[in-house]
Amino acid sequence: MNARCAKCGACLPACPVYRQTLLERLSPRGKHALLKDGAADYSWASVKETVDACLQCGACGAQCSAGIEVNREILDARAHNREFAPSFPALWKLFGSDLAWSGASTLLKTLPAASGIIFRLAALSSSSTADDSPHLPPPAASPLISPKGMAKFRNAADESLKKSGKYSGIRIALFTGCVQNLVYPEIPKAMTRWFPGAEFIIPEHQCCCGLPALSAGAVKPASNLISRNIKAFEKARADMILTGCASCSYMIGKWHELLDRQDDKQKALNFAERLKEFTQAANPSIMEGHLKKIQGTITFHAPCHSRFSSEGTEASENFIKRVAKDNFAQMEQGCCGHGGSFSIKFPSISQGIFQERLAALKKTRASTVVTTCSGCLMQWKTRLPGADCPTEIKVIHAAELLSP
Ligand code: SF4
Ligand code: SF4
Repeated sequence: MNARCAKCGACLPACPVYRQTLLERLSPRGKHALLKDGAADYSWASVKETVDACLQCGACGAQCSAGIEVNREILDARAHNREFAPSFPALWKLFGSDLAWSGASTLLKTLPAASGIIFRLAALSSSSTADDSPHLPPPAASPLISPKGMAKFRNAADESLKKSGKYSGIRIALFTGCVQNLVYPEIPKAMTRWFPGAEFIIPEHQCCCGLPALSAGAVKPASNLISRNIKAFEKARADMILTGCASCSYMIGKWHELLDRQDDKQKALNFAERLKEFTQAANPSIMEGHLKKIQGTITFHAPCHSRFSSEGTEASENFIKRVAKDNFAQMEQGCCGHGGSFSIKFPSISQGIFQERLAALKKTRASTVVTTCSGCLMQWKTRLPGADCPTEIKVIHAAELLSP
């Protein structure tokens, strides 16, 4: 084992995969040992599974006093070790290409992209049967991003907001992310209502933030997607870039690390500086009188990509508390088990991790779960039906906390 690892085991209980499997090999400490020292007595299938079975949640790094970030070590292995490279490199290459995302291409318009290409890539490289996989949500009837060019619209603020002087004239560019564009377009639409009077722009040529490709080890396709996004938003000349997905926000904060040229890195940093995750930018005080009156108790599921990033979860939690008023109950936080393609590759472990969340939810007695990440939203919405719950649970995005 690498000398830096004290073998203290502090990372073990923090790791959702270890908690479910109780296998040292799948723990952060075990993964670190395998990647640093190798493991001659493991079969190839076990080694591959060890590298695959990571949600990239970051919980282990937050516990490690030696500063070991196993999620980064896993990413490095997937990206730079040919043996752990993505199973279908040609598909990832296509996913990261201009051809796949260009307005002239019909590829991503004819394939239901968010329910399709990303998950199909994952499923194709999965060693598990699909029997215990979560049901994937169907694509929305019409995606948000227009194929006809950069969409612009001004938010029609109602008269009471105009009179109150809360009318905002800022120009906001929406970064939708794949899932909110193609599966839950109602979320970015709901976000615009929190900025009365603002002008919104939806750059057509934006694409996936690159997180699925990076997580799979497809670094070059990920950096192609990043460059395409940066170019797409240059023309928007927006005061602010807004996303409703904590995972997209996390990934955009890392874009500069994946680009080689100094000027490209700077552009990525500039993009990240102008980007706001929805709950960091919207102000419930402005919308007083328009806030949703929810029956029962509300709780917050904090996405791992916020919990273990410099962004943190305070802004999101305060936002939700502000709307919920006295009806907020704190939930013990933890990973939901989604982890992108993890939930498809390891459906049983993913389901087990979700059961931990369900137990935490039951303790709050809440009937509404609010979150801020597309992946978490998908996991909660697809795993809840059929789950053993005493009451009907609603799962919504924070932007949906306005009355219709
Ligand atoms: S917390 Fe860090 S030092 Fe301790 S076992 Fe885990 S990786 Fe090693
Ligand atoms: S990133 Fe999460 S799933 Fe991966 S080893 Fe660390 S704690 Fe476990």
